[in-house]
Amino acid sequence: MSLSFRCVICGAHEADILFEAGGFDDPNERFQLRQCRGCGVVSTSWGDGELDLGSYYSSDYYGGEGAKFIAPVEYLTWLGNRARAKAIFERMDRSATPAAGGLRVLDIGCGRGHFLGFMSRQGWECHGLEREDFRGKVPAGVELHLASAEAVPLDSGYFDVISIWHVLEHLPNPLATLQEARRLLRRDGVLALAVPNFGGWQAGWFGAHWPHLDLPRHLYHFSPETLEMTLARAGLCSFSRGRGSFEQDLFGFIQGLMNRAGLPANGLFHQIKGGPEVSRAALPLWAAAAGVLSPLAILESTAARLAGKSATLICYARPAE
Ligand SMILES: [Zn+2]
Repeated sequence: MSLSFRCVICGAHEADILFEAGGFDDPNERFQLRQCRGCGVVSTSWGDGELDLGSYYSSDYYGGEGAKFIAPVEYLTWLGNRARAKAIFERMDRSATPAAGGLRVLDIGCGRGHFLGFMSRQGWECHGLEREDFRGKVPAGVELHLASAEAVPLDSGYFDVISIWHVLEHLPNPLATLQEARRLLRRDGVLALAVPNFGGWQAGWFGAHWPHLDLPRHLYHFSPETLEMTLARAGLCSFSRGRGSFEQDLFGFIQGLMNRAGLPANGLFHQIKGGPEVSRAALPLWAAAAGVLSPLAILESTAARLAGKSATLICYARPAE
């Protein structure tokens, strides 16, 4: 039990430690995953001391001026953005009348704005939110706000679509952000959410070795049940599920197996992400090993999708009545 714990979702003060795991970048840093006894939400704990979370984003987390990853992975990311837009379009209420200025989208935690760049080219008015210390560039036509959702002065009901894509788990108060998203969303608007699935197969198999724990950047670890509960507390109602995220699911499986086998923690990620301080000498070896494991990863991802146990939890919600 953690004495200083207070759940931001339900206010309970008691939690159980599930297990201990190493940091994503430095496995010698130790963190605990704790589960709230009140609502069941799992969060990251580092004990009673202070932790400068900003320092975990300052290296080259978002990538530099150009690409974040090597070219084939950048292409997969572009395919992912296109699929994300298509899935949202399919779930929009086609009978709704757009505002006079046209369709508007907000991406909370937009990074370098690739998704918004895609939406802007489709004619949408695009807004993105990022951390105050974010120094990256976003595509032309995207309005970038360096603030939290709670601090941005935007009108209620302004947006047709709000996306929080692999971001909710990074936020200190996911409930407050979802409440703000509800305020900013039209009554018939769509909230698109993606988080790692702590209730999926990979999380269960790999435990502390699962790369999508991404400690300590991920402060929350949602399952389908705890995400639904948090949405409901924010006045949102989920109406549709996505099937998973191919690139995230394949990576989670391959890297999870490599970590479990005792290879340097998250070595494949550090190789494909690159950066000036990373030696690429071992890249062919890592790539060959990933290639060998790929058929198994594709099999796992496909079976997990069919069973509803994907490594990525995608859901679409709208304001509750
Ligand atoms: Zn709780």
